[in-house]
Amino acid sequence: MARIVILGSSAAVSDAKHDNTHFVLIGETGPVLVDCGSNPLGKIKNLGIDDEALQDIILTHFHPDHVSGVPNMLMHMWLLGRHAPLRFYGLNHCIKRTEDMMSAFAWETWPNFFPVTFKRVRERDNDLVLDNADFRITAWPTKHFVPTIGLRIENKRTGTVLAYSCDTEPIPGLIDLAHDADLLIHEAAGKGFGHSSARQAGEIATEAGAKSLYLIHYQVWNTDPRPLIDEARETYDGPVTLCEDFDEYEF
Ligand SMILES: [Zn+2]
Repeated sequence: MARIVILGSSAAVSDAKHDNTHFVLIGETGPVLVDCGSNPLGKIKNLGIDDEALQDIILTHFHPDHVSGVPNMLMHMWLLGRHAPLRFYGLNHCIKRTEDMMSAFAWETWPNFFPVTFKRVRERDNDLVLDNADFRITAWPTKHFVPTIGLRIENKRTGTVLAYSCDTEPIPGLIDLAHDADLLIHEAAGKGFGHSSARQAGEIATEAGAKSLYLIHYQVWNTDPRPLIDEARETYDGPVTLCEDFDEYEF
């Protein structure tokens, strides 16, 4: 079995118990990190993963709560004397700005820097992001404030599918993204432009035929997120879980 470890579960406003939403997929060949709102290396180390083993990072979109940990993570890796390559995947909108962000830190002047490459994902449904021995991962454009991708992650060893909505308001493409998924991890930041409520997440899970729903990217500041579970249950009959930091789910 592969597993997903939730490294952060909050929407853009985090608190001491909930980091910004990001997670790591752990298979047999190596981890895949999805988003980097803060430097994840301490958490990755606690999972028993060598930092050099982390070589694949998908960035879903260029908002601070999803990418602002990149410079600190890269500096951290460099100071550890890393040699292993690192590969970033994302839309051109995000990759271009990530490169510009690193240029602002003049990273080209950091001596003996390890190799970093960027793969641009096309902004269209079902575009292949990454295909390794464990996972086949495709990208699906969502409806957010900037170009953003959700992900469909197939465990190639078991056939199990994990779908991730990323930041989005409800759109038909999400039903394809999450079609018959075993786990649907859906944002629940709240109803409005570019985001979804837990109730809307439940509607997408129902329409997609997802077998289980996990709520993430929810509000935590001066609010109790636990009622979101009942809200999602109003529109979805399957099991609903509120993701918490460091939760692990097998798939
Ligand atoms: Zn976000």
